[in-house]
Amino acid sequence: MSDSGYLQVTHVALLPSAGMGHLTPFLRLAALLTAHNVHVTFITPSPTVSLAESQSLSHLFTTFPQITQKHLHLLPLDQPSANSEDPFYYHFELIRRSSHLLPTLLSSLCPPLSAIITDMSLASTVIPLTDSLGLPNYIFFTSSAKMLTFYVSFHTMLGPNHEIEDHTKVSGLEQIPKAWIPPPLLQGGNNLLKTFFIENGKKMTESSGILVNTYESIERETLAALNEGKVLKKLPAVIAIGPFAPCTFQESQQLAWLDDQPTGSVLYVSFGSRTAMSRDQIRELGDGLVRSGCRFLWAVKDKKVDVEDNEKLIEVLGQGLLERVKKNGLAVKNWLNQEEILSHPAIGGFLSHCGWNSLTEALWNGVRILAWPQHGDQKINADLVERIGLGTWDKSWGWGEGEMLVKAQDIAERVREIMGNKLLQLQTDHIREEARMAVGDGGSSTKRLYALIEIWKKVQ
Ligand code: UDP
Ligand code: UDP
Repeated sequence: MSDSGYLQVTHVALLPSAGMGHLTPFLRLAALLTAHNVHVTFITPSPTVSLAESQSLSHLFTTFPQITQKHLHLLPLDQPSANSEDPFYYHFELIRRSSHLLPTLLSSLCPPLSAIITDMSLASTVIPLTDSLGLPNYIFFTSSAKMLTFYVSFHTMLGPNHEIEDHTKVSGLEQIPKAWIPPPLLQGGNNLLKTFFIENGKKMTESSGILVNTYESIERETLAALNEGKVLKKLPAVIAIGPFAPCTFQESQQLAWLDDQPTGSVLYVSFGSRTAMSRDQIRELGDGLVRSGCRFLWAVKDKKVDVEDNEKLIEVLGQGLLERVKKNGLAVKNWLNQEEILSHPAIGGFLSHCGWNSLTEALWNGVRILAWPQHGDQKINADLVERIGLGTWDKSWGWGEGEMLVKAQDIAERVREIMGNKLLQLQTDHIREEARMAVGDGGSSTKRLYALIEIWKKVQ
């Protein structure tokens, strides 16, 4: 018992950012901490951008009534020009501009907090606020450790006009080729993404620690370089606590079609929660999937934000392609419960954009990847896919974002290759085992999580 008479509880607040790629790992972290008897207050920036986010949040609070929900009501921005940028980046900015509301919220929580865990995109605005409260602030980096090396080094690469002068400055590791750098970061002048990289990358050095949803056996060298001061001299501990186990925050969605397919025979095709390809590329992809002759389950996405994705499948694909797809595949144009799909025995491969959550879900289930990075961190992640033996990446496909049109014939060939690659299946079985060991009893990530919770207990 504490001096004040109540049983002491370790209490941690979580502050995610916008989009499923940022929210999902926070939801899993909340579930993980709750399972270890940490009391979690989950701060939800409201409103959300997508329906998927608001639905997942309501599932979290229904499944875990012991988690406290607090809203951070977002204030409108007095700078409409920022609205023309990506809707998710715009929301990052909204949260940053509303973060002055946090100190009152945080200090009102009971029992007092031992720490807050803040999304990487909010570091530069939230760290000064939590410093003034004397509250330890851990930054959760929602991509790979390799991407983290780039994120924290980016500001050191820039010249006086914020143009990249020398992109080779991620020291202690192999160079990241210029072609893998997210294109908006290579532009002159400023944009929201660039500002986030510069400001947050710098400020993260002042956090209490950086959490990453990765683990030793896939990013050993990278984690060592970060923690030995080879990337930046002054960096807090980088703590690998993944891969987070699936924890369903979505309705189960039995797909009878999938149940009828032979084991390991189906390629799942999805580019995540916020990537819409051009219509031409969507149709070329559909043609390629049909020509491959392989079975496939294809999540078609025509708009970045789900609530705007209103056109019917027939309008997006056209009658002819839709009919051909039905021969060996199933195309759907709604949110799928990806965790559930990747764990289905019929799934044998995943054509993925290499969002970090999709990759951690694939390796957790031992599903091999055909990588087709579209933007952001995805080429850096795709490289890791190849290097750890999780899958293949055809670099000639470039970025998805309108850089080129990848032809149906090329897609069909790569699909046939990946689905027929038995060696890769052996490798991914091994990766699956290692992933589960990392978070099992005595695993490297489990040990780090326990150590972290012990530190928080001492803060009380
Ligand atoms: N997701 C899903 N159903 C969909 C699309 C995406 O469940 O139809 C989930 C996916 O499982 C992952 C997250 O949304 O957990 C997307 O995150 P990721 O980092 O893979 O990519 P992003 O969407 O941020 O590009
Ligand atoms: N690795 C890493 N970061 C990377 C790539 C690899 O930490 O970006 C680690 C990871 O643990 C991997 C090991 O280095 O298992 C070996 O990877 P590499 O590509 O160097 O394989 P090699 O061909 O040298 O065996």
